[in-house]
Amino acid sequence: MNPKDQLTTLKGIGPRRGEILGRMGLFLLEDLLFYAPRDYRDYSVAKPVSTLAHGQEAAVRLTALAAPGLARIRRGLSVGTLRAEDEAGGRILLCWYNQPYRQGTVRAGETFVACGRVDRSRGIKLTNPALYPELPGILPVYALSKGLPQAQMRQTVKLALCACMPELRDGMPEALSARYRLCELGFALYNLHFPQSLDALQKARRRLAFEDMLLFRLMMHSFREQKVRPRGRRYILGGARAAYESLLPFVPTGAQQKAMADIERDLCGRRAMNRLVMGDVGSGKTAVAAYALYLAARSGFQAAMLAPTELLARQHYDALKAIFGEKELCLLTGSTRGAQRRQALEDLACGRAKIAVGTHALFQAGVEFFDLGLVVADEQHRFGVVQRAAMAAKGAAPDLLVMSATPIPRTLALMFYGDLDLSQMDELPPGRRPVITKLVPENKREDLYRFLEDRAAKKEQAYVVCPLVEPSESLEELKSATEVFKMLRARRGAKIGLLHGQMKEEEKRAAAEAFREGSVDLLVATTVVEVGVDVPNATAIVIENAERFGLSQLHQLRGRVGRGEKESYCFLLTGEASGSASERLKILCSTRDGFAIAKEDLALRGPGEFLGKHQHGLTGFAAMKLAMDLGVLDEAQAAAELVRSGAVSAPELLWRAEEKRRMLEEEIAVN
Ligand code: ADP
Ligand code: MG
Repeated sequence: MNPKDQLTTLKGIGPRRGEILGRMGLFLLEDLLFYAPRDYRDYSVAKPVSTLAHGQEAAVRLTALAAPGLARIRRGLSVGTLRAEDEAGGRILLCWYNQPYRQGTVRAGETFVACGRVDRSRGIKLTNPALYPELPGILPVYALSKGLPQAQMRQTVKLALCACMPELRDGMPEALSARYRLCELGFALYNLHFPQSLDALQKARRRLAFEDMLLFRLMMHSFREQKVRPRGRRYILGGARAAYESLLPFVPTGAQQKAMADIERDLCGRRAMNRLVMGDVGSGKTAVAAYALYLAARSGFQAAMLAPTELLARQHYDALKAIFGEKELCLLTGSTRGAQRRQALEDLACGRAKIAVGTHALFQAGVEFFDLGLVVADEQHRFGVVQRAAMAAKGAAPDLLVMSATPIPRTLALMFYGDLDLSQMDELPPGRRPVITKLVPENKREDLYRFLEDRAAKKEQAYVVCPLVEPSESLEELKSATEVFKMLRARRGAKIGLLHGQMKEEEKRAAAEAFREGSVDLLVATTVVEVGVDVPNATAIVIENAERFGLSQLHQLRGRVGRGEKESYCFLLTGEASGSASERLKILCSTRDGFAIAKEDLALRGPGEFLGKHQHGLTGFAAMKLAMDLGVLDEAQAAAELVRSGAVSAPELLWRAEEKRRMLEEEIAVN
């Protein structure tokens, strides 16, 4: 069958299963083929009972000691049991809760393989094991919707694989397969789901990730070739820099100067600016971003500044007010409503507002600009090609500046921002001292609070960041902002504020304001303060359950303090951190280089997770997530060069990249 056929045309997939699969975003056979398992169970080797560890997923070859029994413990709970032993005489009990049919028709003396989770809490058990006549090998585990059991999904995928195999077209040119040692597409897909070995799985993932990255690269390139700045849009640069710098309360650093010079150069060119400024947290990106806005406004056309949260949009609005005055500024976020919104829309449409500051609300349907010439996206490390294009659609090839505080290795940057030129800001403003970073065990919590309260008495402010908003039953070990807030307030040692994402916008604004003006000493918050928030008087940050956060994220959070010349602290509270968790956190104590930290993060978690995040809003490249290391990325990049330069002929790949681009453009058009 053709992989492009609807799933439901496959014999064995009825309308009901089709509907559930549809809910999971799977419509074509092809969707199913590329639906990567979220995990695997290695049932390729039988384990002796004596070696089984609690919690382990294992396959055991057993002989039944008696016929299965079934006990009704109480209404609604029945337990099926089967006693069995392995070759060495190791005995084990198999239990099925409320699944009387699962124990099947095993007879005493019969030999079979049982696969499931080991429970050693009392005796030794396998809970809800699946029984097979022989070892089933390595099995996929899929993320599923309700109503579709794992076993059925496996069977469905197998059906689809077998049906499509004969018509699968491998578009990878021989030259590339040979050069980069890529396995065939059919082998890759089969082994993605039902790996013959872990090695085969590795090969499969590499091949699929490689192909997606290669296509992505080719697609990005075709995006890049398009934009030319309209002739009418001229920037007036003479004397601009000096005039702008005289508005700033500080002297720009060398890195800031360099980035500003890069921007000036772009704005003189024929092509529209397409620049990414990557700078560590606290390096002063806002001043650089504002310079671009300043140049646009000075030259007589509109500019927009996009922030990831309302909090940040408002902060920028206030900061820009100090530079530009209120008259030509306009703030538009999701909570701008009614008359205010109507006024903002009108000001933007007729050109009265020169500089718009806002969230994604700025780029929704219904917002029209008079002559949008430049867009700045601040703190947009998850800002993909879709979002960039949606913004660009609001003007005639507007100049584009993206600011990111997540330094990433060059190969990754090229991958995701391959259509952008890069400025790197590798210098902090003078006088900054490293934030003193410490791991704090639970039994030192009281000392920590007393330390913070002493400092509050001296008007030194602090953040306390929690992973949750409300206490959660299923995540009992995690601290929530509301509970920490109540507890700290009850101590009466300092003035406590609360800020989290579930509060109303006005409440958030009031809380941020109170902290900024100093009427609150300790701000208990969630990661809403992760990026961009700038309150230079805050000199300490406490992070609850620090082991739950990624290193780069912790580095971002830490960047909320140490923004002035005062000594600052970052305290990482660790719940029940295992040895390896605190090892990981120690990296933060020893370096403040965001780039080094990001690299460490990548090495620890693999680029897959990272790539997943960066694909935000970008469908059709799911296999990129399968990358296990950065090597594939380098190779895919090199391969893209070969294809583009014509050294390798790959008409099908180019055609598919073009098709992906069209799909993306459609996606952008409907958004
Ligand atoms: P980020 O790069 O994290 O966005 P910000 O633009 O928020 O950094 O700047 C961090 C802090 O440093 C702000 O309080 C800002 O006013 C200050 N700052 C920026 N540039 C300089 C400079 N050249 N000299 C002194 N302070 C600066
Ligand atoms: Mg910033």
